[in-house]
Amino acid sequence: MFDSLSVKLDRAFKTLKGQGQITEINIASTIKEIRRALVDADVNYKVAKDVTDKIREEALGRDVLISVSPGQLLTKIVSEELTTLMGETNVPISLEGNPNIILISGLQGSGKTTFTGKLANLMKKQGRTVLLAACDIYRPAAIDQLKVLGEQIGVEVYAEPENKDAVKIAKNAIKFAKDNGKKTLIIDTAGRLAVDEQMMNEISDLKEAVNPAETLFVVDSMTGQDAVNTAATFNERLNFDGVVLTKLDGDTRGGAALSIRKEVEKPIKYISTGEKMDAIDLFHPDRMASRILG
Ligand code: GDP
Repeated sequence: MFDSLSVKLDRAFKTLKGQGQITEINIASTIKEIRRALVDADVNYKVAKDVTDKIREEALGRDVLISVSPGQLLTKIVSEELTTLMGETNVPISLEGNPNIILISGLQGSGKTTFTGKLANLMKKQGRTVLLAACDIYRPAAIDQLKVLGEQIGVEVYAEPENKDAVKIAKNAIKFAKDNGKKTLIIDTAGRLAVDEQMMNEISDLKEAVNPAETLFVVDSMTGQDAVNTAATFNERLNFDGVVLTKLDGDTRGGAALSIRKEVEKPIKYISTGEKMDAIDLFHPDRMASRILG
Protein backbone atom coordinates (compact mmCIF):
# COMPACT_ATOMS: atom_id res chain seq x y z
CA MET A 1 0.00 0.00 0.00
CA PHE A 2 1.08 3.58 -0.62
CA ASP A 3 1.60 5.89 2.31
CA SER A 4 -1.29 8.21 2.86
CA LEU A 5 -0.75 11.86 2.10
CA SER A 6 -0.85 12.71 5.79
CA VAL A 7 1.98 10.25 6.49
CA LYS A 8 4.01 11.71 3.62
CA LEU A 9 3.44 15.25 4.85
CA ASP A 10 4.42 14.32 8.34
CA ARG A 11 7.65 12.84 7.04
CA ALA A 12 8.40 15.80 4.79
CA PHE A 13 8.05 18.17 7.71
CA LYS A 14 9.79 16.20 10.43
CA THR A 15 12.76 18.51 10.35
CA LEU A 16 10.68 21.64 10.62
CA LYS A 17 9.06 20.85 13.93
CA GLY A 18 9.42 23.69 16.34
CA GLN A 19 11.30 25.86 13.85
CA GLY A 20 8.87 28.72 13.50
CA GLN A 21 6.91 29.33 10.32
CA ILE A 22 5.96 27.63 7.09
CA THR A 23 7.86 29.49 4.38
CA GLU A 24 8.07 29.51 0.58
CA ILE A 25 11.32 27.57 0.81
CA ASN A 26 10.38 24.85 3.24
CA ILE A 27 6.97 24.28 1.63
CA ALA A 28 7.95 23.98 -2.05
CA SER A 29 8.66 20.25 -2.26
CA THR A 30 5.71 19.50 -0.01
CA ILE A 31 3.33 21.33 -2.31
CA LYS A 32 4.57 19.14 -5.13
CA GLU A 33 3.99 16.09 -2.97
CA ILE A 34 0.42 17.19 -2.28
CA ARG A 35 -0.22 17.81 -5.98
CA ARG A 36 1.12 14.38 -6.90
CA ALA A 37 -1.03 12.74 -4.22
CA LEU A 38 -4.16 14.53 -5.53
CA VAL A 39 -3.43 13.42 -9.08
CA ASP A 40 -2.88 9.86 -7.79
CA ALA A 41 -6.31 10.13 -6.18
CA ASP A 42 -7.84 10.90 -9.63
CA VAL A 43 -8.09 14.66 -9.21
CA ASN A 44 -7.44 16.18 -12.62
CA TYR A 45 -4.12 17.99 -12.98
CA LYS A 46 -5.50 21.48 -13.48
CA VAL A 47 -7.75 21.16 -10.46
CA ALA A 48 -4.88 19.73 -8.40
CA LYS A 49 -2.75 22.72 -9.38
CA ASP A 50 -5.44 25.24 -8.44
CA VAL A 51 -5.93 23.50 -5.13
CA THR A 52 -2.26 23.39 -4.24
CA ASP A 53 -1.81 27.05 -5.21
CA LYS A 54 -4.55 27.93 -2.73
CA ILE A 55 -3.06 25.67 -0.11
CA ARG A 56 0.32 27.34 -0.50
CA GLU A 57 -1.28 30.74 0.09
CA GLU A 58 -3.16 29.43 3.10
CA ALA A 59 -0.14 27.77 4.63
CA LEU A 60 2.47 30.47 4.16
CA GLY A 61 3.25 32.35 7.28
CA ARG A 62 1.31 30.01 9.51
CA ASP A 63 3.09 29.46 12.79
CA VAL A 64 4.20 25.93 13.38
CA LEU A 65 3.46 25.20 16.99
CA ILE A 66 5.70 22.94 18.96
CA SER A 67 2.68 20.86 19.92
CA VAL A 68 1.38 20.31 16.38
CA SER A 69 3.57 18.77 13.73
CA PRO A 70 3.85 20.81 10.52
CA GLY A 71 2.65 17.72 8.68
CA GLN A 72 -0.51 17.67 10.77
CA LEU A 73 -1.03 21.37 10.29
CA LEU A 74 -0.67 21.09 6.55
CA THR A 75 -2.91 18.02 6.39
CA LYS A 76 -5.54 20.05 8.22
CA ILE A 77 -5.18 22.94 5.76
CA VAL A 78 -5.43 20.58 2.77
CA SER A 79 -8.42 18.79 4.25
CA GLU A 80 -10.23 22.07 4.94
CA GLU A 81 -9.51 23.34 1.46
CA LEU A 82 -10.81 20.16 -0.20
CA THR A 83 -13.93 20.24 1.97
CA THR A 84 -14.60 23.87 1.05
CA LEU A 85 -14.10 23.14 -2.65
CA MET A 86 -16.59 20.27 -2.50
CA GLY A 87 -19.20 22.51 -0.90
CA GLU A 88 -18.87 22.13 2.90
CA THR A 89 -22.15 20.34 3.55
CA ASN A 90 -24.56 17.96 1.86
CA VAL A 91 -27.11 19.57 -0.45
CA PRO A 92 -30.43 17.70 -0.26
CA ILE A 93 -32.51 16.90 -3.33
CA SER A 94 -35.69 18.86 -3.94
CA LEU A 95 -38.92 17.32 -2.67
CA GLU A 96 -41.07 19.89 -4.49
CA GLY A 97 -43.95 18.99 -6.77
CA ASN A 98 -46.88 16.65 -6.64
CA PRO A 99 -45.68 14.19 -7.60
CA ASN A 100 -42.11 15.12 -6.79
CA ILE A 101 -40.36 14.13 -10.03
CA ILE A 102 -36.74 12.99 -10.02
CA LEU A 103 -35.04 12.35 -13.36
CA ILE A 104 -32.03 10.03 -13.40
CA SER A 105 -29.47 10.47 -16.19
CA GLY A 106 -26.09 8.99 -17.03
CA LEU A 107 -24.19 6.61 -19.27
CA GLN A 108 -25.03 2.93 -19.52
CA GLY A 109 -23.17 0.96 -16.89
CA SER A 110 -22.72 3.97 -14.59
CA GLY A 111 -25.04 2.40 -12.01
CA LYS A 112 -28.10 4.45 -12.95
CA THR A 113 -30.75 1.76 -12.60
CA THR A 114 -29.22 0.40 -9.39
CA PHE A 115 -29.17 3.92 -7.93
CA THR A 116 -32.79 4.49 -9.01
CA GLY A 117 -33.76 1.45 -6.93
CA LYS A 118 -31.67 2.59 -3.98
CA LEU A 119 -33.12 6.08 -3.95
CA ALA A 120 -36.66 4.65 -4.13
CA ASN A 121 -35.81 2.35 -1.23
CA LEU A 122 -34.42 5.23 0.82
CA MET A 123 -37.41 7.47 0.17
CA LYS A 124 -39.81 4.66 0.97
CA LYS A 125 -38.04 4.15 4.29
CA GLN A 126 -38.52 7.87 4.92
CA GLY A 127 -42.26 7.32 4.59
CA ARG A 128 -42.85 8.61 1.06
CA THR A 129 -44.95 6.76 -1.48
CA VAL A 130 -42.79 6.10 -4.50
CA LEU A 131 -43.36 5.09 -8.11
CA LEU A 132 -40.54 4.09 -10.44
CA ALA A 133 -40.84 4.69 -14.18
CA ALA A 134 -38.84 2.66 -16.70
CA CYS A 135 -38.07 4.99 -19.59
CA ASP A 136 -35.23 3.05 -21.20
CA ILE A 137 -36.86 2.36 -24.55
CA TYR A 138 -33.85 0.56 -26.01
CA ARG A 139 -33.04 -2.22 -23.62
CA PRO A 140 -35.94 -4.45 -22.59
CA ALA A 141 -33.52 -5.92 -20.04
CA ALA A 142 -33.35 -2.53 -18.33
CA ILE A 143 -37.12 -2.60 -17.76
CA ASP A 144 -36.87 -6.10 -16.30
CA GLN A 145 -33.95 -5.05 -14.12
CA LEU A 146 -35.99 -2.18 -12.68
CA LYS A 147 -38.96 -4.47 -12.10
CA VAL A 148 -36.77 -6.95 -10.20
CA LEU A 149 -35.41 -4.12 -8.05
CA GLY A 150 -38.93 -2.75 -7.52
CA GLU A 151 -40.13 -6.13 -6.30
CA GLN A 152 -37.15 -6.47 -4.02
CA ILE A 153 -37.83 -3.16 -2.28
CA GLY A 154 -41.61 -3.26 -2.54
CA VAL A 155 -41.99 -0.27 -4.87
CA GLU A 156 -44.29 -0.26 -7.89
CA VAL A 157 -42.72 0.12 -11.35
CA TYR A 158 -44.51 1.81 -14.23
CA ALA A 159 -43.48 0.45 -17.64
CA GLU A 160 -44.83 0.23 -21.20
CA PRO A 161 -42.52 -2.32 -22.86
CA GLU A 162 -44.14 -1.87 -26.31
CA ASN A 163 -43.98 1.92 -26.28
CA LYS A 164 -40.89 3.48 -27.88
CA ASP A 165 -41.70 7.05 -26.90
CA ALA A 166 -39.97 7.90 -23.62
CA VAL A 167 -41.78 11.24 -23.26
CA LYS A 168 -45.19 9.57 -23.54
CA ILE A 169 -44.25 6.85 -21.07
CA ALA A 170 -43.03 9.47 -18.60
CA LYS A 171 -46.21 11.54 -18.98
CA ASN A 172 -48.36 8.44 -18.47
CA ALA A 173 -46.28 7.62 -15.41
CA ILE A 174 -46.98 11.09 -13.97
CA LYS A 175 -50.71 10.53 -14.49
CA PHE A 176 -50.45 7.08 -12.92
CA ALA A 177 -48.61 8.56 -9.91
CA LYS A 178 -51.29 11.23 -9.47
CA ASP A 179 -54.15 8.75 -9.84
CA ASN A 180 -52.57 6.39 -7.36
CA GLY A 181 -51.44 8.87 -4.73
CA LYS A 182 -47.70 8.41 -5.24
CA LYS A 183 -45.81 11.39 -3.85
CA THR A 184 -42.51 10.68 -5.59
CA LEU A 185 -41.83 9.58 -9.16
CA ILE A 186 -38.31 8.51 -10.04
CA ILE A 187 -37.67 8.18 -13.77
CA ASP A 188 -34.90 5.87 -14.98
CA THR A 189 -33.74 6.79 -18.49
CA ALA A 190 -31.82 5.17 -21.33
CA GLY A 191 -28.05 5.28 -21.25
CA ARG A 192 -25.48 4.71 -23.97
CA LEU A 193 -21.94 3.49 -23.70
CA ALA A 194 -20.71 6.88 -24.83
CA VAL A 195 -22.29 10.30 -25.15
CA ASP A 196 -24.04 10.77 -28.50
CA GLU A 197 -26.20 13.47 -29.96
CA GLN A 198 -29.38 11.40 -30.18
CA MET A 199 -29.14 10.39 -26.55
CA MET A 200 -28.61 13.98 -25.46
CA ASN A 201 -31.59 15.15 -27.51
CA GLU A 202 -33.81 12.48 -26.00
CA ILE A 203 -32.91 13.14 -22.40
CA SER A 204 -33.19 16.90 -22.79
CA ASP A 205 -36.60 16.49 -24.48
CA LEU A 206 -37.64 14.28 -21.59
CA LYS A 207 -36.50 16.84 -19.07
CA GLU A 208 -38.38 19.60 -20.82
CA ALA A 209 -41.55 17.52 -21.05
CA VAL A 210 -41.72 16.38 -17.41
CA ASN A 211 -40.12 19.41 -15.73
CA PRO A 212 -38.55 17.46 -12.86
CA ALA A 213 -37.91 19.02 -9.44
CA GLU A 214 -34.57 17.27 -9.48
CA THR A 215 -32.35 16.01 -12.29
CA LEU A 216 -29.51 13.82 -11.13
CA PHE A 217 -26.49 12.80 -13.15
CA VAL A 218 -25.05 9.40 -12.20
CA VAL A 219 -21.36 8.72 -12.83
CA ASP A 220 -18.97 5.87 -12.12
CA SER A 221 -16.21 7.14 -9.82
CA MET A 222 -13.79 4.58 -11.26
CA THR A 223 -13.75 6.24 -14.69
CA GLY A 224 -11.33 9.01 -13.69
CA GLN A 225 -10.92 11.81 -16.20
CA ASP A 226 -13.74 10.47 -18.39
CA ALA A 227 -16.11 11.07 -15.50
CA VAL A 228 -15.32 14.78 -15.61
CA ASN A 229 -15.77 15.04 -19.39
CA THR A 230 -19.07 13.16 -19.31
CA ALA A 231 -20.31 15.33 -16.46
CA ALA A 232 -19.46 18.46 -18.43
CA THR A 233 -21.31 17.25 -21.54
CA PHE A 234 -24.43 16.20 -19.62
CA ASN A 235 -24.44 19.45 -17.70
CA GLU A 236 -24.21 21.55 -20.85
CA ARG A 237 -27.32 19.90 -22.24
CA LEU A 238 -29.30 19.11 -19.11
CA ASN A 239 -28.21 21.69 -16.57
CA PHE A 240 -28.65 19.00 -13.94
CA ASP A 241 -29.13 19.74 -10.23
CA GLY A 242 -26.80 17.23 -8.67
CA VAL A 243 -24.36 14.39 -9.14
CA VAL A 244 -24.41 10.82 -7.87
CA LEU A 245 -21.01 9.18 -7.57
CA THR A 246 -21.19 5.40 -7.81
CA LYS A 247 -18.90 2.44 -7.14
CA LEU A 248 -17.11 4.10 -4.27
CA ASP A 249 -16.77 0.65 -2.71
CA GLY A 250 -13.98 0.14 -5.26
CA ASP A 251 -10.43 1.20 -4.57
CA THR A 252 -10.69 4.68 -6.07
CA ARG A 253 -9.66 7.50 -3.77
CA GLY A 254 -12.59 9.51 -5.06
CA GLY A 255 -10.76 12.45 -6.60
CA ALA A 256 -13.40 12.52 -9.33
CA ALA A 257 -15.69 14.12 -6.74
CA LEU A 258 -13.44 17.14 -6.51
CA SER A 259 -12.78 17.42 -10.26
CA ILE A 260 -16.47 17.14 -11.17
CA ARG A 261 -17.50 19.66 -8.56
CA LYS A 262 -14.88 22.13 -9.81
CA GLU A 263 -15.73 21.52 -13.48
CA VAL A 264 -19.54 21.72 -13.42
CA GLU A 265 -20.06 23.62 -10.16
CA LYS A 266 -22.93 21.37 -9.14
CA PRO A 267 -23.14 19.59 -5.80
CA ILE A 268 -22.57 15.88 -5.42
CA LYS A 269 -25.62 14.72 -3.52
CA TYR A 270 -25.36 10.97 -3.07
CA ILE A 271 -22.74 8.28 -3.20
CA SER A 272 -23.27 4.65 -4.04
CA THR A 273 -21.11 2.07 -2.35
CA GLY A 274 -22.17 -1.36 -3.56
CA GLU A 275 -24.71 -3.41 -5.46
CA LYS A 276 -27.14 -3.90 -2.58
CA MET A 277 -30.20 -1.70 -2.21
CA ASP A 278 -29.04 -0.15 1.06
CA ALA A 279 -25.58 0.80 -0.27
CA ILE A 280 -26.41 4.49 -0.63
CA ASP A 281 -25.25 7.49 1.40
CA LEU A 282 -25.57 11.23 1.37
CA PHE A 283 -22.40 12.85 0.06
CA HIS A 284 -20.40 14.54 2.81
CA PRO A 285 -17.55 16.78 1.56
CA ASP A 286 -15.45 16.38 4.73
CA ARG A 287 -15.59 12.57 4.54
CA MET A 288 -14.62 12.65 0.88
CA ALA A 289 -11.71 14.99 1.71
CA SER A 290 -10.43 12.42 4.23
CA ARG A 291 -10.77 9.69 1.65
CA ILE A 292 -8.87 11.66 -0.99
CA LEU A 293 -6.12 12.37 1.53
CA GLY A 294 -5.97 8.66 2.41
P1 GDP B 1 -26.94 1.45 -15.69
O1 GDP B 1 -26.65 0.81 -17.02
O2 GDP B 1 -26.34 2.80 -15.57
O3 GDP B 1 -28.36 1.42 -15.32
O4 GDP B 1 -26.10 0.60 -14.61
P2 GDP B 1 -26.57 -0.55 -13.62
O5 GDP B 1 -27.37 0.02 -12.50
O6 GDP B 1 -27.17 -1.66 -14.40
O7 GDP B 1 -25.16 -0.97 -13.01
C1 GDP B 1 -24.13 -1.53 -13.81
C2 GDP B 1 -23.37 -2.55 -12.97
O8 GDP B 1 -22.71 -1.89 -11.89
C3 GDP B 1 -24.27 -3.58 -12.32
O9 GDP B 1 -23.59 -4.83 -12.33
C4 GDP B 1 -24.44 -3.09 -10.90
O10 GDP B 1 -24.70 -4.13 -9.99
C5 GDP B 1 -23.10 -2.44 -10.65
N1 GDP B 1 -23.17 -1.34 -9.67
C6 GDP B 1 -24.01 -0.28 -9.63
N2 GDP B 1 -23.71 0.53 -8.60
C7 GDP B 1 -22.65 -0.01 -7.98
C8 GDP B 1 -21.85 0.36 -6.84
O11 GDP B 1 -22.05 1.40 -6.19
N3 GDP B 1 -20.82 -0.47 -6.52
C9 GDP B 1 -20.55 -1.61 -7.22
N4 GDP B 1 -19.53 -2.35 -6.83
N5 GDP B 1 -21.27 -1.98 -8.28
C10 GDP B 1 -22.30 -1.21 -8.66
